[in-house]
Amino acid sequence: MDTAVVWFRDDLRVTDNPVLADAVDRAETVVPVYVTDPRRRGDSEYGPAKRGRHRARFRRESLQDLRASLRDSGGELLLRDGTVETVVPELAAASDANAVFAQTKPATEEIEREHAVRDGLPAGVDFERRWTHTLYHINDLPTPYDSIDDTFTPWRKEVEQSTEVRDPVPAPAEITVPDDIEAGEIPTVDALAGDDRTGGDDSRDDGPDDRAVLPFEGGETAGKGRLEAYFWEGDHLREYKQTRNGMLGADYSSKFSAYLAAGCLSPRWIHREVRRYEDERVSNEDTYWLLFELAWRDFFQFQFVKHGGDFFTADGIRGVDKEWQHDREAFQRWAAGETGLPFVDANMRELNRTGYMSNRGRQNVASFLVDALEIDWRWGAAYFEQQLVDYDVASNWGNWAYQAGVGNDSRDNHFNVLSQADRYDGNAEYVRTWLPELADLPPEYAHRPWQLDDAERAEYGVELGIDYPRPMIDFEQRYAELGRR
Ligand SMILES: Cc1cc2nc3c(=O)[nH]c(=O)nc-3n(C[C@H](O)[C@H](O)[C@H](O)COP(=O)(O)OP(=O)(O)OC[C@H]3O[C@@H](n4cnc5c(N)ncnc54)[C@H](O)[C@@H]3O)c2cc1C
Repeated sequence: MDTAVVWFRDDLRVTDNPVLADAVDRAETVVPVYVTDPRRRGDSEYGPAKRGRHRARFRRESLQDLRASLRDSGGELLLRDGTVETVVPELAAASDANAVFAQTKPATEEIEREHAVRDGLPAGVDFERRWTHTLYHINDLPTPYDSIDDTFTPWRKEVEQSTEVRDPVPAPAEITVPDDIEAGEIPTVDALAGDDRTGGDDSRDDGPDDRAVLPFEGGETAGKGRLEAYFWEGDHLREYKQTRNGMLGADYSSKFSAYLAAGCLSPRWIHREVRRYEDERVSNEDTYWLLFELAWRDFFQFQFVKHGGDFFTADGIRGVDKEWQHDREAFQRWAAGETGLPFVDANMRELNRTGYMSNRGRQNVASFLVDALEIDWRWGAAYFEQQLVDYDVASNWGNWAYQAGVGNDSRDNHFNVLSQADRYDGNAEYVRTWLPELADLPPEYAHRPWQLDDAERAEYGVELGIDYPRPMIDFEQRYAELGRR
């Protein structure tokens, strides 16, 4: 064919990108484009913005990097502003394209947009969709996606036994674009972000914070650099399973999530690097465990194809009828990290300040919201959607539904956040890092400042209600009621 439009979505990379590779293979000239859709800077129906500033910054940097990579091969990245169903068909018409190549995503809104673009294309222009963001290809699953198991373990075992991960496809060596294209400007953070007012001033991206686990520079180049540093230079993969429940520093876990969510890294490429590490360094349970976690990621993606919009309902995919509270003030205290429970507040402040929170932290703050406060889990999911640098629709809403007991697990998953704090932050280093007002307290009080008596308050200079919030509920009593874990 003569010309193909390559519509980039959450696949901002050149290596192992079958959308780009196939278009370059099949067409003499390609027109690569990214569209900043104004609906992405809108608010969700629960209040928070759909995309906050952390992720907007990451995306902007990812687009800069993608443009540089495409230019290196003789290509270009066009940047356009507008609704995708207007911009992509107009561009196809203006460039006399024979086809539009694009990534397909499983969530409802993404599919609606895809269909709108397809329906808007001029007659005779093909719409070529590619499934590009999971480790296992959807067409290789042993059981079709609409009848896969809703429980992770049987699904994973079946897939691991019978499915090969496909090889990554190389980046195109040479890309030819039309001569007369107008490239357009890389969108600003403001153009990419909604107004994230819910988290208070902390949610503004006002420069780096040296407590952040990583600067999370966006783009495929930075993503590959992160893998290089974590696997090869730091040699951390050999201990991944043992360290992955950490909360401080760059190397307790891979920090690949933001790169995977924007498609700067492909899971198949990471898989190939894991296999290479296993050949060249060591193959053990820890190296396998990274693939195990990538299987979790896949699981939620396929679950979204299966259950679609049911994932966004209060009752979830299992139709669990629970009484959810809609207390705005309590929710705001949770979101701002002002509940008075240090382990929750430290994690929320890290999220607000940096856009990232460890997996251990996410499970705990989610459980606190849905179990201790019984607040509608969708409010929490929508807040994470705004704040996370690594937000992914299936990973986020799937994990929240799971934690709320309405998703892919029928067990009661509630966490006793006080016990979790003692277990995973025994010396209170994490809490004292993110809550400097508690930095002088001994560990037992840093996790339970309400237990300080008057003399100790004076000695340590911590006055509840002034230096740090009073507990919003009686946590000890609440966790005694909820019991265990
Ligand atoms: C309430 C809640 C919300 C979450 N929201 C998101 C989200 O929006 N985006 C997101 O990428 N992850 C989400 N997660 C999953 C997990 O917390 C992050 O993927 C992980 O903390 C990212 O850090 P990492 O890349 O260092 O992870 P690692 O421990 O190094 O894991 C490697 C990769 O495996 C995948 N992975 C690991 N755990 C999970 C999991 N439970 N579910 C799905 N994929 C997983 C991620 O792609 C991750 O990058 C959420 C978890 C919870 C409990």
